[in-house]
Amino acid sequence: MDFPIPAGCLAVTERLASRGYSAYLVGGCVRDLCRGVEPHDYDLTTSATPDEMKRALTGFRVIETGIAHGTLTVLSDGRPYEVTTYRVDGDYSDGRHPDGVVFTASLEEDLRRRDFTVNAMAYSRADGLIDPFGGQADLSARLIRAVGDPDRRFTEDSLRVLRALRFSSTLGFSIEPNTAAALFRLAPSVRRVSPERIREELLKLLSGKASGSVLQTYRDVLFAAVPALAPLGDGWDNAASAASRLSSDPPLALAALARPLGADATAALFRSLRTDRKSERRASAAVAAYAAGLPADLSCAGLFLVDFGAAVARDAVALARAYRDPGAEAGESAVAAFIESGRPATLADLAVRGNDLVAVPAGPARKEALDALLRLAASGKVDNEREALLARLKAGKPE
Ligand code: ATP
Ligand code: MG
Repeated sequence: MDFPIPAGCLAVTERLASRGYSAYLVGGCVRDLCRGVEPHDYDLTTSATPDEMKRALTGFRVIETGIAHGTLTVLSDGRPYEVTTYRVDGDYSDGRHPDGVVFTASLEEDLRRRDFTVNAMAYSRADGLIDPFGGQADLSARLIRAVGDPDRRFTEDSLRVLRALRFSSTLGFSIEPNTAAALFRLAPSVRRVSPERIREELLKLLSGKASGSVLQTYRDVLFAAVPALAPLGDGWDNAASAASRLSSDPPLALAALARPLGADATAALFRSLRTDRKSERRASAAVAAYAAGLPADLSCAGLFLVDFGAAVARDAVALARAYRDPGAEAGESAVAAFIESGRPATLADLAVRGNDLVAVPAGPARKEALDALLRLAASGKVDNEREALLARLKAGKPE
């Protein structure tokens, strides 16, 4: 087996080998090479300790990214490679982090600490594929299987529960029955994991091509791991199907999942996952706009865009499409027709400014008058032209 491997990567393994250390590609990149997919990055594992690596890799730029865990980042041919000393993890007394890491001389020990068989293979040009746990067989069978006893492995590190679902979704693999049974048993322990790590795995799960079936099959795992989702109850299947249609936009897929709970609960879910404020607002605004009702015609589209803005309107339409809402098509055409029409949706687009409204006292009344004119112009009741707008203002309080 001869995989196509970047020259910069081979330069690092060959240098380590020439100094008497062994060095292999490991983990996700080996899995992807075996599947015939180009890896997005290459991780290396070596018998050299970090100090030995630094001495062996003179001439390369080396960054001490995680020296306590035995990891250095090596720049080679313009790309970064993470190189980690063979290690075994100490006890996981908190279910999240090993108490310490211990370097080992054994590649097999290093592979044994990894999460799933398909992620526990190593490769070098010299030795070929090193696969002590049947990763290749599981790749052919399209199976996610824990290395060793699944209950123990999920107890050690609860994040692996979500990683199993994530890989099942992104690879389109099933989860081996013993591993799957352990997922259900240990799902509640995921709550001990930091919200940020839960969020990252959840978003990757939602980006996967098989997210719909994973969400449906592992509903109770997700309810236990992310209790904010549990109130969905029987609404889950529908929400999961909608989310699966938004896999190209995982944050919006998460909004789709939360949508039956309402805009406030959507915001609360995003906050509980420590999502940035912008994403939280985007999600809750899309849910709120969809709940307000998509516009059915051009003049409703005007008011909808004034209220929510174009970006939120687009997201609301995407949610409606994902939910197979019969009004999605009309809403989308109405929004498109409005944008095409050139009518104003914001005060900045309006043909008059506050200063033009000399007849109205400056202050809140003027702002109110501007807003009213904007709504009239957006819904087509008056042209967006200075004279027409001022005439309308003169004619009476625009309603
Ligand atoms: P991706 O293609 O998404 O990067 P990956 O398999 O490379 O997938 P990473 O999260 O980058 O996943 O981790 C790299 C490797 O480290 C994994 O393939 C696995 O061998 C090991 N690993 C990562 N996280 C864990 C964990 N929580 N428990 C055990 N092993 C892990
Ligand atoms: Mg990776």
